[in-house]
Amino acid sequence: MNIPFNKPYMTGKELWNIAQAHANGHLAGDGSFTKRCSRWLEARTGAGKALLTHSCTAALEMAAILADIQPGDEVIMPSYTFVSTANAFALRGAVPVFVDIRPDTLNIDENLIEAAITERTRAIAPVHYAGVGCEMDTIMAIANQHKLLVIEDAAQAVMANYKGRPLGAIGHMGTLSFHETKNIISGEGGALLVNAPHYAERAEIIREKGTNRSQFFRGQVDKYTWVDIGSSYLPGEIIAAFLAAQIEEADSITRQRLAIWNTYHQWLAEAEKAGKLRRPVVPAHCAHNAHMYYILLPDLAHRTAFIDKLRKVGINTVFHYIPLHSAPAGQRYGRAHGDLPVTNEMADRLVRLPLWVGLEEVQAEVIQHVLSSL
Ligand SMILES: *Cc1c(COP(=O)(O)O)cnc(C)c1O
Repeated sequence: MNIPFNKPYMTGKELWNIAQAHANGHLAGDGSFTKRCSRWLEARTGAGKALLTHSCTAALEMAAILADIQPGDEVIMPSYTFVSTANAFALRGAVPVFVDIRPDTLNIDENLIEAAITERTRAIAPVHYAGVGCEMDTIMAIANQHKLLVIEDAAQAVMANYKGRPLGAIGHMGTLSFHETKNIISGEGGALLVNAPHYAERAEIIREKGTNRSQFFRGQVDKYTWVDIGSSYLPGEIIAAFLAAQIEEADSITRQRLAIWNTYHQWLAEAEKAGKLRRPVVPAHCAHNAHMYYILLPDLAHRTAFIDKLRKVGINTVFHYIPLHSAPAGQRYGRAHGDLPVTNEMADRLVRLPLWVGLEEVQAEVIQHVLSSL
């Protein structure tokens, strides 16, 4: 048996779309496939503007520039996240301030945010872990009261929502990832959702190397020039053509992933009752996207043994994250607010099970091995 942890799903139309992009004779960014993807994202999320980027990392970097984050500013975020959440702000000279997570959803604990706010705090960057929404009502209320920006790291959360509102489209800005380990993919890829309309014009400029080229193409100005800082954050049409095939099947991909997720959840219920593991918690007001199925084992020793046993039968499971506050760069650039006991504990206990479209055919066998490796 060889069950990979992840297997990128292809719809079958990707190469045809790429051939179309080639036939169109437009391979740089912002051609017809990019427009198709952007309009789809805007329609599905309600974001005023969706801009395709090379990655979610690039979208986070754009968000940090748009938020005008300055050296010494502070940005509140979880420590239990991927490096890009923090790195995008550290690149601007800001200090990531790490707050502990909730023991149920493993999302930032909204009740700890207010105590971490100082006069240098500029923004909150909630991460919707596993595509399950953070407590956005509370987070937005805190942000409004303290005049902070909210930049949602919705890398894992495409097609998921909180109280009916699509994740990534609730804060002032949101970022999505189309990395091949995510639900909807283009190899590398991402998007910036600009929800607060006054950022839209500058977002286009930052993405186009600091020029007003997008306005020029729309005929709004008669020449384009360097007007602001920026970089090249836009993907070419080959990537967008690939992504366009994926978004057509976004609903079906999500449905299939949810079916696999639900199968795991049902079959592991008894082991949870027996105290051998803890299953993911999804609050009733969150519609998740089955980005991830993880389990929490009793401790690090159990997890190491579990991963080893499954590897021996050819099933690949993985753990993450090394908490950012304990990583070398996190210690250099960031600051932990408190001891983060939940983060430290979960980082030792969590393991992710294989979840990809097609797994359903062998999932019963995988589950048997999971149960016998507990
Ligand atoms: C995957 C991920 C990212 C980075 O996405 P890329 O598209 O690979 O840059 C950022 N944040 C979180 C929470 C992620 O899961």
